[in-house]
Amino acid sequence: MEFAKQEYEFLSEIGLSPETPGCFVNGKWKAHGPTVSSINPANNQKIATVVEASLEDYEEGMKACSEASKIWMELPAPKRGEVVRQIGDALREKLHHLGRLLSIEMGKILPEGIGEVQEVIDMCDFAVGLSRQLNGSVIPSERPNHMMLETWNPLGVVGVITAFNFPCAVLGWNACIALVCGNCVVWKGAPTTPLITIAITKLVSEVFERNKLPGAIFTSFCGGAEIGQAIAKDPRISLVSFTGSTKVGLMVQQTVHQRFGKCLLELSGNNAIIIMDDADIKLAVRSVLFAAVGTAGQRCTTCRRLLIHESIYQTVLDQLVDVYKQVKIGDPLEKGTLLGPLHTPESRKNFEKGIENIKSQAWKILTGGSVIESEGNFVQPTIVEISPTADIVKEELFAPVLYVMKFQTFEEAVKINNSVPQGLSSSIFTRSPENIFKWLGPHGSDTGIVNVNIPTNGAEIGGAFGGEKATGGGREAGSDSWKQYMRRSTCTINYGNELPLAQGINFG
Ligand code: NAD
Repeated sequence: MEFAKQEYEFLSEIGLSPETPGCFVNGKWKAHGPTVSSINPANNQKIATVVEASLEDYEEGMKACSEASKIWMELPAPKRGEVVRQIGDALREKLHHLGRLLSIEMGKILPEGIGEVQEVIDMCDFAVGLSRQLNGSVIPSERPNHMMLETWNPLGVVGVITAFNFPCAVLGWNACIALVCGNCVVWKGAPTTPLITIAITKLVSEVFERNKLPGAIFTSFCGGAEIGQAIAKDPRISLVSFTGSTKVGLMVQQTVHQRFGKCLLELSGNNAIIIMDDADIKLAVRSVLFAAVGTAGQRCTTCRRLLIHESIYQTVLDQLVDVYKQVKIGDPLEKGTLLGPLHTPESRKNFEKGIENIKSQAWKILTGGSVIESEGNFVQPTIVEISPTADIVKEELFAPVLYVMKFQTFEEAVKINNSVPQGLSSSIFTRSPENIFKWLGPHGSDTGIVNVNIPTNGAEIGGAFGGEKATGGGREAGSDSWKQYMRRSTCTINYGNELPLAQGINFG
């Protein structure tokens, strides 16, 4: 059987075929759930067909994965790091094919697709170094002839549930760290990006096979809410790392906490950029454009709110509207395209609903505001002038819609920045050290990522990534995020022959 279009033939070089089983269970590809199509958002036509997981497939996979965890956690951490290094190399070899797949299945432009795969490769490199630095500590004891130690052990199995917009980077942030920490990984990708889930899993599984390790160490399922729920409920999974909407994340958290499991949440964002009166306006305008329009406004770190100081308000807006009108919209694979399609027809409907809402409340659309008639899910990049107190400003509309508002003082801008339920990312454009340090301080921005003179997006893997409030509080990728993937043991050792607290008691 052949792919529907010749341009998809390259997929066979990354292990994909026109009809593929979507579960990697106990080292084998199989699947007995519903058959679904992977759709290209640029034309809404089928790329390939995938069979999703059934609950029986899930059970078989989880049994094998739990067994495999006994083997994997006993391998010394630097040896686990060596396996992750090989995964990075395998991805490197297929970087361009994988990037292209991301573009045709998710809809992001090609440089973003390639950039996302590169991020997984970078995470592999980061994790290799980390595999030699999972250090514990020695703590001074208050008792004579005693010593306290803190040591770290693997959790066992880590479940990773990912969203459609970063269909492989989020897996990388979690899995690379989870694996070097000694955990097996169970991955459920987004239901609308099954080919990416399968292609990445194939590369990873070949590395385990080459190293004569059980394939079940990395188990993966294509599927939707049913498999996600099974992961949330499963007591064999010590940590569930969930990336997605706040609404679903809350349900997952409650389910995991009911069984006293650990949860790491990476949920919705509603990120603001503040432009102060002393900002470099050219730099700020370019940054806002990329932060608001990139990935068609479907990044968790997309800039959705732009706060402009009243003294430069009109100047900034004029420049911004001008650059918005030059944005090249179209085929995400084509050179020069900046804005590809939204991911699904449903996303396009949500954009339309959002615009109707904006219009019904008489907010002013400065540019954009329409869908583009075509077979794909294309929409115009949109700027709306609005009040910071409007209810719709508090919600994450997952599309390239930017709300702009005016402020007078730094304090007022910070208050507006912090006035939404979400707390992922924020950025200020200013040249004033006073503003910068206040922005970073206790009365500054309340988000997890607090930037200065760069956009809200584009976080580097070396830092801990995540947000506060309704964004869920989790931290992934760099810094000391690895501690979430391990359990901590505090050990006090008595190397004398006295038990200080027992002095004065006669034990006969
Ligand atoms: P979503 O919440 O609809 O789905 C996310 C994942 O959850 C999917 O794999 C889905 O199949 C699964 N799921 C759905 N119902 C479930 C259930 N009942 N139990 C368990 N799993 C279930 O989100 P989406 O539309 O795929 O992604 C967009 C959202 O993700 C946005 O809100 C975005 O901000 C957020 N996001 C956040 C980050 C971050 O790091 N903070 C990163 C990427 C995306």
